[in-house]
Amino acid sequence: EKLYRIQGWGEPYFSINAVGHVTVSPKGDRGGSLDLFELVEALKGRNLELPLLIRFSDILADRIERLNACFAKAIARYNYPGRYQGVYPVKCNQHRHLVEELVQVGHPYQFGLEAGSKPELMIALATLKTDGALLICNGHKDREYIETALLSMRLGQKPIIVIEQLEEVQLVIDISAKLGIEPIVGVRAKLSTKGSGRWGESTGDRAKFGLTLPEILSGVNQLRDAGLLNALQLLHFHIGSQTSAISVIKDAIREASQIYVELRALGANMNYLDVGGGLAIDYDGSKTNFHASKNYNMQNYANDIVAEVKEACEARQIPAPVLISESGRAIASHQSVLIFDVLNTSDVLSGEPAPAHQNEHLIIRNLWETYGNITVENYQEAYHDAIQFNEEAKSLFNLGYLSLTQRARAEQLYWACCEKILNIVRTQDYVPDDLEDIEKIMASIYYVNLSVFQSVPDSWAMNQLFPIMPIHRLNEEPTCRGILADLTCDSDGKINQFIDLRDVKSVLELHPLRKAKVQENQGSGGEFTDKDTQSTVLEESGTTSHPQTREPYYLGLFLVGAYQEIMGNLHNLFGNTNTVHIRLAPRGYEIEHLVKGDTITEVLSYVQYDAEDLVESIRRRTEQALRDNSITLAESQRLLQNYQKSLSSYTYLSS
Ligand code: PLP
Repeated sequence: EKLYRIQGWGEPYFSINAVGHVTVSPKGDRGGSLDLFELVEALKGRNLELPLLIRFSDILADRIERLNACFAKAIARYNYPGRYQGVYPVKCNQHRHLVEELVQVGHPYQFGLEAGSKPELMIALATLKTDGALLICNGHKDREYIETALLSMRLGQKPIIVIEQLEEVQLVIDISAKLGIEPIVGVRAKLSTKGSGRWGESTGDRAKFGLTLPEILSGVNQLRDAGLLNALQLLHFHIGSQTSAISVIKDAIREASQIYVELRALGANMNYLDVGGGLAIDYDGSKTNFHASKNYNMQNYANDIVAEVKEACEARQIPAPVLISESGRAIASHQSVLIFDVLNTSDVLSGEPAPAHQNEHLIIRNLWETYGNITVENYQEAYHDAIQFNEEAKSLFNLGYLSLTQRARAEQLYWACCEKILNIVRTQDYVPDDLEDIEKIMASIYYVNLSVFQSVPDSWAMNQLFPIMPIHRLNEEPTCRGILADLTCDSDGKINQFIDLRDVKSVLELHPLRKAKVQENQGSGGEFTDKDTQSTVLEESGTTSHPQTREPYYLGLFLVGAYQEIMGNLHNLFGNTNTVHIRLAPRGYEIEHLVKGDTITEVLSYVQYDAEDLVESIRRRTEQALRDNSITLAESQRLLQNYQKSLSSYTYLSS
């Protein structure tokens, strides 16, 4: 638990059970839990291959309920005379089943949607119930966007058109006059409060969106001149996603509250204050203002918003607004877990080296002697000696004084020294600076069946941290340290930063892969031994044995429900993963939806290849090869079969 800090980031949904598996409690402390490892095995039994994205519908529901409960509690605590009516920003995860579920669960709270683009507006208009839930219309808008939003009022929707660019004011005035529909208008302010963290530039004078104060005043005048000042009812701001420090949120609310009361004083019919997104997630469980964490909880967030706004309105004796938040990350992150398997590992060559003979090259004898003399007292010195001898061996080889075999021997002795030193380092409380990197240098590469670009783009694009851990074998000490390398042939396709307390560590604690038990008289079978046939056992290539003989080793990437899916890309043509929606049932669980991942045919069609044309092209080539006698008939049929089968298969590797 401590190693992976699951208690910190996982509560109340993820924990470890007595058999060492990750447990999911989708309703938090309200009962019902699932063994994640068993769930994955059961889903694999239904032919759902890994990588597999599991969405827990009850977690989504719980997040909505929690957010509303926190605001209800804050409103009661501060005697706030207004109410809270949140919206979900569709941009965060637009997948249909998720948005539909969210609207369903949000219905009792009149929970609405926020659209940041015309396509998202299409989703919101068709999905939102006409129950008074708000439809916040953000983003760049053209005539069609505004007209469609306004006309939806005739269907009973409640769109609020938020002005993000000054030009939009005139468009709204013209279109509402033409349609004879009085709009509800909002204005997005560029606050001067500085954001923080990776997305902190969403605010400030040079922010991409929103109006400066002079622009807001100009918009107010335009609306007044058009007789539409009454339509201006909402003030919106967004300080950037994943705001780790509560002080930043407080400052922003304070500034926004003042703008709000001033707008009211100017004659606008202010009724809503929309605080945007920014409610952060504790990815590393440290509860600090580190960028992967946050130094407040959802209740603190709601309290501060309610208290600040109340104070500002009371001071000016104006009615308290309906409070809106556009929390995306805080609603959608927890419900998705990506499960993927390890295909094989590559370990640094080590193991017990053979003793050096008297007639071996001096450099080899030096390395052997260094290796033999490593102790707790001299391990730091020995490390520098080993590095120096290894460098000398490389130079000697480059100058032609060492053979390839001798160079390989020197290298093996060097790694053996490092391994022995690392074993000592791990027992020490204090690690000297020059040895801090030794874990990283000695880390194994765990080749994993996933694409970082498709499934965790923020890890690749901005080094965002996500909790990653094995979902089983957690009663066993993870004796290996590794980094994860994905399936793409891109050296950026790796994860080598992992959560640590307020920090980042460069290796993840992992278990050695185990060989599957060979069933008696039957070749390989389903039962596994407990015996540790470690993947670190040396083979000449330094890479472990054939994957088919291996017991599966599953890792989970947690808190990936926000932004990752939609921003993932098709690098190397690895497509969408299989996805299931799981809901707790009175006995066990129910698979609510199953969305098959892309097949190769599908991803090829995104780049304009037609599967039938491709097959036809290969068929013609095999016919030509047959005529040239360069392929047998059986081979040609096998090739065609494989080709066709691949086209209809998953883009990831099958285990
Ligand atoms: N509202 C707006 C205008 C946004 O741009 C965003 C995303 O950055 C959000 C809401 C959602 O933010 P978060 O996911 O931090 O809640």
